[in-house]
Amino acid sequence: MNLNVYRCDGKLLAIDCGIGFGGPENPEIEVMVPDPVWLAERRDRLVGLVITHAHEDHVGAVAHLWPMLRCPIYAGPFVSAVLRRKLGEAGLLGEAKITTVPLSGRIKLPNFDLEFLRVAHSVPEAQAVAIRTRHGIVVHTGDWKLDPDPLIGEPTDEAAFARLGEEGVLAMVCDSTNALVEGHSGSEAEVRRNLTAIIRSLKGRVAVSCFATNVARVESITRAAMAAGRQVALFGRSLRNAEAAARECGYLTDIPPYVPEDEAGFIPDDNLLLICTGSQGEPRSALAKIGADTHPQIALGEGDTVIFSSRMIPGNERGILLLQDQLARRGCKVMTADDHMVHVSGHPARDELRRLYQLVKPKYAVPVHGEWRHLSEHAALAKELQAIPVLVEDGDVLQLAPGRPDVVEGVPTGRLAVDNGRLLPINGGVLAARKRMLFNGVVMASFAVDEAGRVRGTPVVSAPGLLDGDEHIGAQLAADLARAVGELPNGLRREDDALREAARAVLRKAIGRRLRKRPNVEVHLLRV
Ligand SMILES: [Zn+2]
Repeated sequence: MNLNVYRCDGKLLAIDCGIGFGGPENPEIEVMVPDPVWLAERRDRLVGLVITHAHEDHVGAVAHLWPMLRCPIYAGPFVSAVLRRKLGEAGLLGEAKITTVPLSGRIKLPNFDLEFLRVAHSVPEAQAVAIRTRHGIVVHTGDWKLDPDPLIGEPTDEAAFARLGEEGVLAMVCDSTNALVEGHSGSEAEVRRNLTAIIRSLKGRVAVSCFATNVARVESITRAAMAAGRQVALFGRSLRNAEAAARECGYLTDIPPYVPEDEAGFIPDDNLLLICTGSQGEPRSALAKIGADTHPQIALGEGDTVIFSSRMIPGNERGILLLQDQLARRGCKVMTADDHMVHVSGHPARDELRRLYQLVKPKYAVPVHGEWRHLSEHAALAKELQAIPVLVEDGDVLQLAPGRPDVVEGVPTGRLAVDNGRLLPINGGVLAARKRMLFNGVVMASFAVDEAGRVRGTPVVSAPGLLDGDEHIGAQLAADLARAVGELPNGLRREDDALREAARAVLRKAIGRRLRKRPNVEVHLLRV
């Protein structure tokens, strides 16, 4: 998840605004966005938000956070097409202004003169940004790779990077995702050749899963299917959205319309190929429904094949392996990048990093994207290539000029969970309570007392998820509660807080003794 901010002579420029996923440490959260509080408080100085490419971890949070930032947005044509759909779904299209900058274009904002540079990546039209300021040039690479044959769009514009190198680059803020991988990331063209050979050899229904915005991959799968005499259907909303954005920008033009989901089931098995969302095991995706055999339109089974044309994003392994297992149980043959060459990474391996450093020759290197291990390996490599590396963490303010680069300030950062349209701090009260309930359950008690604090009627205690259906224990807990309240000194019984606390304490203790759990205890007191 990305949200980068550059500051020059008092003005601020934001680059990318993406989402992340909750993952195994945050099972109560599906989607997270950066907490923009620091930036939102200074939005009068924010000259714009630039989006480098259409991946969710770079563009996915715009519709969530724009209402707090309310700044102009600048992006290339494909990002604009994708973003307009997202803002439209959020009802923000009338308010948020997107300026579509032509590829390799240049825009001047107050204190920042921006030049876009085309890079190859696993999405159409990814671009790096050269930020010219009166203090020097900073190259923000975004996600990139070198691919002589990216199939869609042009290869990385090495001449433009070399030109910047000649002009003199102060610092390069660069992708570290594959900084531990020796060699080269490989070419999209090689994946197309392999998919074509594999799909030609298959019988039965074939489903291929990949990232929706990897338009080159979608095109490769489609062409491989057509070469094998198969018709192609897209399964999943994000694939259809990406297809629409791609066609709008002049891609996939000679691909015939895809078969609608509700017609795919009528095509003979050997003549059908599905492209599905769900390569990361996302629970509501088309492939997850097919794996669970709950998809309303299509089923896969014995003799069919599912190809995962993607990598596992760290944190998603478990969900993906479970899905692959489910598909195998149904009788499907499952092929992945581990056993077949059906995927290449969109990020630079070490040879590609070397090449870019040789072209750009930055004075300073700021590795970003990846865990600390990736950043530090990238830093070591940059040093070998004559750049001075500077490592930063989330919230660090790195002063690049004037003087020697140094972290001069820390600003508050954090993450917000997207919870059905609300944004909640992930360490805040609501989600902390939910997480506690998830692991320890919740106990709810209601009781009535008269003015003197004597219990009236019978207290009710329930504990869904802890004591389901066990009325006997519920009644015992209610009796424990009534006794504890009855034992309070007269004076305290007139105070609501004291009554509630006494009830809470006795329930906590009783549940702890019986179940060895520390649940959330909610007490409702009624004075009658
Ligand atoms: Zn990306």
